[in-house]
Amino acid sequence: MFADLHLHTNFSDGTYTPEELVAQAAKHQLAAIALTDHDTVEGCERAQAACAAAGIDFVTGTELTAEQGGNEIHILGYFVDTKNPKLLAEIAKFQAVRQDRIREMVARLNALGVPLKVDDVFALANCRSPGRPHVARALVRAGLCSSLDEAFERFLKKNRPAWVPKMKMSASTGIELIHQAGGLAVMAHPGLNRSDEVIPDLAEGGLDGIECFHTKHSASTAEHYLAIAGRLDLLVTGGSDCHGLSKGKPLIGTVKLPYERVEKLRAALGALASRRQASGQQAGGTPAVPGRHS
Ligand SMILES: [Zn+2]
Ligand SMILES: [Zn+2]
Repeated sequence: MFADLHLHTNFSDGTYTPEELVAQAAKHQLAAIALTDHDTVEGCERAQAACAAAGIDFVTGTELTAEQGGNEIHILGYFVDTKNPKLLAEIAKFQAVRQDRIREMVARLNALGVPLKVDDVFALANCRSPGRPHVARALVRAGLCSSLDEAFERFLKKNRPAWVPKMKMSASTGIELIHQAGGLAVMAHPGLNRSDEVIPDLAEGGLDGIECFHTKHSASTAEHYLAIAGRLDLLVTGGSDCHGLSKGKPLIGTVKLPYERVEKLRAALGALASRRQASGQQAGGTPAVPGRHS
């Protein structure tokens, strides 16, 4: 029994609909999945319904872009209440930031003599959380680049001429936002960010787990983060970060997280919820932190 807890749909920069994603999960015989679209939880309701029909355990989620000590980090929020007003309000702000960033990137492309139309990007993205992959796909579709790789290499990668820095929330804001929505905050793909030094600070600030298993983590990278998780008493998650077809095949199911890890997340969530409730009742009392996930 395996789970894949890092998946995207066309509610952000993935290409599958929630139903198509769940059909893939069923095909790969996954016992549990989480949907973690960038800055949105909109796809969760449909994914949940499809999972219920397919007998797959579903975990609500989102992936927030944040920063800590000048490093960009991605924070996964699991089990969040998808109707939480504060979460929805903050997400809406960051969706507006994303849309402004698309306009700015297209303006830069136009200034470079690349005649991409911003409406074509938005039409292709057809979601509230558009991102660079949509600009890349629009460039290819318009015949202005021959491949997504070329679009990123020539224009969209960090410090390339059409790249625009992204406004991010602080990591502590992201963690707090997820917690107040009833969720667990997990650092996504730490091996991609190569900023291990921030992990103890994040753990101190309430981070609940790290994504040890990821498509871009080698076996030794996974071992490295498992050791860190053990040392800092953090939960362990994993997922493929599937965005649809990648070189003709979807990544879903290629990172196999044992289902027991999902059960551990649920147990930790229950323990945290009762601890938060207890600390709330004690008028500002702080819960004991050591051993919080053991
Ligand atoms: Zn990410
Ligand atoms: Zn992702």
